[in-house]
Amino acid sequence: MRRCRVPTLGEWSGGPATRTEGRHARSRSAGPSPRVVVANALEGQRCHFVPGPLDSLHGARTEDVEILYTQAKEAYFSGIPILSDDDFDNIESLLRYEKSSLVSKGPRCSLRGLNIYSDASLDKGQTFLLASFWSFLSVLSYGCAARSLPGMLHAEAFDTLNVVVGLGFFSAFFRCLLNVLKGNEVAVKGNCPNCGEEVYAFADFKDVEEEECETECLCHMCRRPLVYRITKHKGIIRPIANGEWAYGKIYSKSIAEDYSP
Ligand SMILES: [Zn+2]
Repeated sequence: MRRCRVPTLGEWSGGPATRTEGRHARSRSAGPSPRVVVANALEGQRCHFVPGPLDSLHGARTEDVEILYTQAKEAYFSGIPILSDDDFDNIESLLRYEKSSLVSKGPRCSLRGLNIYSDASLDKGQTFLLASFWSFLSVLSYGCAARSLPGMLHAEAFDTLNVVVGLGFFSAFFRCLLNVLKGNEVAVKGNCPNCGEEVYAFADFKDVEEEECETECLCHMCRRPLVYRITKHKGIIRPIANGEWAYGKIYSKSIAEDYSP
């Protein structure tokens, strides 16, 4: 049976796809787009044409990427994968960013990793509340320091202490607020892989450049230890961005009771 040659994602997109290009790269794909063929390895004669620029995977339409994702998944389960694991993960990340329903699923098992996990998505409401909380504390501490400023100018010890402590707190709270605005601290939510209840956590990234983060906490319903592995897209002022710029998976951690007879 004659089969179309399946390009790697690197060949297909003209270079390794990165999560950081985002949907904004789509706007660069003006003009007639060259066509790239992605074949279904299961059905040698049937090829799917994915219109898009050769220089970026993100130039392809979401519907086309969804078809490619479905074909790659079917091919993987049939034992004849057409994409490498990394390429498949990149496509899945892109679809998650585009909020495709194909990649939102409930709790499930991974035979390869022998674990149970579910999807985590950005919780904009909680992230906004977190930013509001740090803003409130910043204003409060700055107000306390400002009120005692006249006393400090008259060398009153108590007011001087108030100003020093107030400014210290203001500096710490304002740093926390900037952390949220830059996207280094973000709220994510999903279903507990063990009991199915909605759970949330705050993922804390070290800096703007870091894209992966791991947070551990207990499910507030069943007390099962959970690990949140969160990925984010680069950029600034995250809480008001439109895209789904943080997402990931929630893994259920094994405990001693799992192995007791
Ligand atoms: Zn639970």
